[in-house]
Amino acid sequence: MAQLVKRAYKYRFHPTPEQAEQLVRTFGCVRLVYNKALEERTRAYTLEGRGVSYTESSAALTGWKKTPELAFLCEVSSVPLQQTLRHLQAAFANFFAKRAGYPTFKSRKRSRASAEYTRSGFRWRDGRLTLAKMDTPLDIVWSRPLPGGAEPSTVTVSRDAAGRWFVVLLVEEKIAPLPPVEQSTGLDAGLTALLTLSCGEQIANPRHERRERRSLTKAQRALARAISDAGWRELRRMLEYKTAWYGRTLVVVDRFFPSSKLCSVCGALQEEMPLSVREWVCACGAVHDREVNAAQNMLLAAGLAES
Ligand SMILES: [Zn+2]
Repeated sequence: MAQLVKRAYKYRFHPTPEQAEQLVRTFGCVRLVYNKALEERTRAYTLEGRGVSYTESSAALTGWKKTPELAFLCEVSSVPLQQTLRHLQAAFANFFAKRAGYPTFKSRKRSRASAEYTRSGFRWRDGRLTLAKMDTPLDIVWSRPLPGGAEPSTVTVSRDAAGRWFVVLLVEEKIAPLPPVEQSTGLDAGLTALLTLSCGEQIANPRHERRERRSLTKAQRALARAISDAGWRELRRMLEYKTAWYGRTLVVVDRFFPSSKLCSVCGALQEEMPLSVREWVCACGAVHDREVNAAQNMLLAAGLAES
């Protein structure tokens, strides 16, 4: 059955000098409003032992805009300011539910500069996105197409530490399962390739992962991991929901299964398989590429787990 899911599409964009100035100012106001509201909530909590609601924070924001010192808050769109108060509200909800620590201040240096716009904060026309307080659309690099007829419901603009600009469009999409097939594929998460398929195809690491990897410390490099544990968890999470979307079954094999040490032809277990060995010959005569053999073993193991 088709299901409705929200999907995020992330793109680079190149702001004009005016847009960049407006966005930098908006990021600054978002940070200020978040920090001031956090300060106020902390004061109310520690001194008066009471919680502060979103509505109360929102009313305080209206008050701040009327003071001469904070009148500049009116120069940016009010939508990202309201959104940051909602984020703070969610952060407190998580804190009280013991899902997260106490919210911390946003730092100009350490926090990601971003602003979130809901439907009233942007215009979407003929595939062009114009943010509130701007009169020209953003020059987005459409590295992949948005699904036909998709209308973003939320737009988040950010700038990373390297000064690159990104926009994330949240769109609702109808996902239909694919027709059933008999085929299965074994996957082995590896070192040289991100994934190796049992048919021999390899999927390389995305470029940004490689860049991150270069900046990893020596100690982490000694773990000999191509991508971080967080990266693997994310990959697993994506495989899980995507297989569910498309009507496919994902079978996860125990991490201690010796996929590299088994011969996928005769089943003989090798005593050792150092990481430096990329190709090997089994006593049965089979010649193996280390990772393709591991992926074929995963396919066999998953088949057994299934039956
Ligand atoms: Zn063998």
